[in-house]
Amino acid sequence: MLKMENVSKIYRTNLIETHALRKVDLHIGAGEFVSVTGPSGSGKTTFLNLAGLLETFEEGDFYLDGQNVKGLSDNQLSELRNEKIGFIFQSFNLLPELPLFDNVDVPLRYRGFNAKERKERIENALEIVGLSSRMQHLPTQLSGGQQQRVAIARAIAGQPKFLLADEPTGNLDSLMAQQVMELLEKINQQGTTIIMVTHDEQLARRAHRNIQIFDGQVSDLAKDQTDVLIQ
Ligand code: ADP
Ligand code: ADP
Repeated sequence: MLKMENVSKIYRTNLIETHALRKVDLHIGAGEFVSVTGPSGSGKTTFLNLAGLLETFEEGDFYLDGQNVKGLSDNQLSELRNEKIGFIFQSFNLLPELPLFDNVDVPLRYRGFNAKERKERIENALEIVGLSSRMQHLPTQLSGGQQQRVAIARAIAGQPKFLLADEPTGNLDSLMAQQVMELLEKINQQGTTIIMVTHDEQLARRAHRNIQIFDGQVSDLAKDQTDVLIQ
């Protein structure tokens, strides 16, 4: 699970302060698929980066899988991140000169798995995303949708509890976006908690729950829906 209590994030550049997140209170349970929507500049990426331990915060408490993240050193944060979190991005972020096999291998090397374990994990992850036959291809030999599936394989090969996705279908046509969404749903059904930032309202509605961010403030529609049911 992921729990934020009263979390705020302020960026300070020169004399300008930007309140990117304001007093966020949120609980995301294990196994949920949550979509995050909101206007440009509202704080979505900041929220995702904070959830993924890529950003620090100055106020509040943040528990990831039961552990309070506040006060951890950079090394402890990287270790926790490598173990628990997989990321995918709008622009795939694959290494263009490396075959798919080696792209998926990159985070596994950080984890210190031996060669045999890594090979098994890479083959398994590429099979899940349907690209087993392409292991020695370069990313540039694939379509955008296929490249995103490689990025998903890379993100899940370490079997993280959380998969964080920042506009994963933003660079894809609608058919490929559907395929990527179906793949994320399959991964979620196998137990991975997914948090996905998206501009695509149709995809956002397919998640179990939608969180909206406006001007750094989180509104959690699940709570609103509960209120409606009670009335
Ligand atoms: P979104 O993902 O919803 O477009 P962001 O999380 O990227 O929004 O940004 C939220 C706010 O924080 C914006 O006002 C943005 O300009 C500001 N911001 C984001 N990153 C930084 C940074 N590294 N330094 C200063 N301000 C930032
Ligand atoms: P998207 O999923 O974003 O619609 P496309 O299928 O249009 O992606 O492909 C993205 C890029 O990859 C394009 O520049 C396209 O020319 C290139 N591309 C697509 N398929 C191949 C392929 N089999 N070999 C090499 N390049 C390809």
